[in-house]
Amino acid sequence: GQPLVFDMSYEQHMSSHDAKNTVSQLLQCEGWNRRSVDPFHLHFCNLQPNSVYHQELLKRYGQETWERLFITTTSQRHVDIFPRENLVYLTADSPNVLRTFDHNKVYIIGAFVDRSAQSGVSLANAKRLKLATARLPLNEHLQWDCGAKNLTLDQMIQILITIKETGSWEKALEFVPIRKHGGFYEQKTENSVFIRFHQWYE
Ligand code: SAM
Repeated sequence: GQPLVFDMSYEQHMSSHDAKNTVSQLLQCEGWNRRSVDPFHLHFCNLQPNSVYHQELLKRYGQETWERLFITTTSQRHVDIFPRENLVYLTADSPNVLRTFDHNKVYIIGAFVDRSAQSGVSLANAKRLKLATARLPLNEHLQWDCGAKNLTLDQMIQILITIKETGSWEKALEFVPIRKHGGFYEQKTENSVFIRFHQWYE
């Protein structure tokens, strides 16, 4: 399968509560991925032995399950494993928009949950490593004037699984919670709401 990297290098930016929350989201990601038609080959990079992440992953899965999972875990950096030109760091703060999903690229997601929303942390990290960056085309497809555009890790993987399978941003971005935006720009959302409404009353 196409590799997908979770960058586990943000532990020092998080409270232990947020680090544990990150692990919960990673468990959900692994589940969504495993049940998908064409799973990504997940790589947890920069995973340090005895880090809070590592201990928490072992605790939550149990040693046996953890070792059987289809996840490659390593303390190495993504840039030491994959050719730099194949890597694209996904970050909401990127000036570049991901318009089409490329099946030959290796996308990186920051394993990073911050309720304090420290903006630009993963962008700075990607720039330091001289990696290409991209943000999801949220403004381009959703009516979304204000509010944080940072999505959770499970939303990110569901979007990537769907765009990979269907090539449709309209389908993929259905995983953005509706409370975050005012609907799709296309007519479709309105129509389907209307149709549902109509059927209800017939
Ligand atoms: N303040 C954090 C930062 O500096 O990235 C936000 C972390 S966000 C909750 C977790 C990860 O999901 C990010 O590191 C990024 O890889 C990915 N992500 C979230 N929203 C995104 C978006 N709109 N576009 C691209 N990547 C996004």
